[in-house]
Amino acid sequence: MPKHAWRYDHLTWPEMRAAIARDPQPVVCVPIGAVEDHGAHMSLSTDNDILEYTLAACGERADGDLLVLPVIPFGLDEHHMDFPGTIAVDIETTLAYLAQVATSVARHGFRHILIVNGHGSNQSICDLAARKVGIATGMICAATTVNAAVDPALVADVLNAERKGGPGSVGHACEYETAMMLHLDPEKVDMALAERDIGQLKLKYFNWDYPEPSAYAWQDWWSRFSRVGVCGDAAAATPEFGRRMFELTVERFVELAREFRTIPLRPRVDHHAPVAPESP
Ligand SMILES: [Zn+2]
Repeated sequence: MPKHAWRYDHLTWPEMRAAIARDPQPVVCVPIGAVEDHGAHMSLSTDNDILEYTLAACGERADGDLLVLPVIPFGLDEHHMDFPGTIAVDIETTLAYLAQVATSVARHGFRHILIVNGHGSNQSICDLAARKVGIATGMICAATTVNAAVDPALVADVLNAERKGGPGSVGHACEYETAMMLHLDPEKVDMALAERDIGQLKLKYFNWDYPEPSAYAWQDWWSRFSRVGVCGDAAAATPEFGRRMFELTVERFVELAREFRTIPLRPRVDHHAPVAPESP
């Protein structure tokens, strides 16, 4: 792989020292994905692939404002273990490992760190890891995603307006993820095997039916509700939709990172200090 100026680990340590001293400082991205089933039509690497391609394009586009770590390739995945090949790491290990990676970055003096999630079940772990880094170091650490099947907030307007599969089409190995891979790495997609499988329950207070919110969070084993590890409408995916979502994500993520960098490191105030008595 050629040396990239945006890849955190491609820098030498004197180059890293200069990056830390730069004003404004780059935002550091800590990506975490998964190796898990993505239907019969896509590779186990799909979540990691979407992270890698998207953050590489963001790094190029950001012109020195982003430094991207290599993707941590495994996460919380016990609920996919009925599908051959999935790698499962438990909650405590994933949280500790992710937080220690991001804390290392903060300890070198980087003030703005983004944990970038690529796999749905890592989401609450990423939130907690960001909290741990903030508490341990005082730096600004947040959790986000560039995968709209994990959380569509960055691109929800366009995703909802332009997807073709209708309600429930975006979940996992779905219209969105399949379209992204058709655009980014079409050799890893076999559309002849792409299925529409919207097997998740839709109840009054629980649903996966983006964009409607669910009133509670719950995760079942995937083999209990999904035939081939698809939740959504993979068959509705097109490379054009993938390209549209990819370019929009890159543009908005760079903007997000530059906004994130403006969050100031404000001083804490210890209100335990005794108040000086008023002079008579
Ligand atoms: Zn995925």
